Amino acid sequence: MKLRRVVMQYFKSFLLWELVKGLAVTGRHLFVPKITIQYPEEKTPLSPRFRGLHALRRYPSGEERCIACKLCEAVCPACCIEIESEERVDGTRRTTRYDIDLFKCVYCGFCEEACPVDAIVLTRNFEFHFEDRSSYIIAKDKLLALGDKYEAQIAADRAADAKYR
Ligand code: SF4
Ligand code: SF4
Repeated sequence: MKLRRVVMQYFKSFLLWELVKGLAVTGRHLFVPKITIQYPEEKTPLSPRFRGLHALRRYPSGEERCIACKLCEAVCPACCIEIESEERVDGTRRTTRYDIDLFKCVYCGFCEEACPVDAIVLTRNFEFHFEDRSSYIIAKDKLLALGDKYEAQIAADRAADAKYR
């Protein structure tokens, strides 16, 4: 039995059997549909739950949703959210500072899950970069602007996601 195995191994190495097997795999895949895409011209579909760049949402009236409860700050495992707040003349509470440190963020989505008013969300936007070291802190005005920019997509994603809950 052992002799037979040794002889087989000898012939296989002589005939470059492993190489032939490898080339057969390559040959088979020459004719199957390709799964690679030409990014960035082509893009793969994204889940409505995709966790990309953050945004702060507003109500249709234009009022910001965030009520400065700081639940997102408390739940964040990377301690990358910093909030300061004050009470307005009408008795409601709003943030005066809402910073997210994008270098620390691990895009876990806990802030989004914890928010009682659906204010902080993670958008589908994953194509962002920084051009200087100071821009890794994303402040409230930028977050609100992102929320305004992506509101239609965020609302559609929320509606699609609600069907599966
Ligand atoms: S996604 Fe996670 S790590 Fe990033 S800010 Fe939200 S809770 Fe923190
Ligand atoms: S974003 Fe949501 S969880 Fe965070 S402080 Fe505002 S209301 Fe509270």
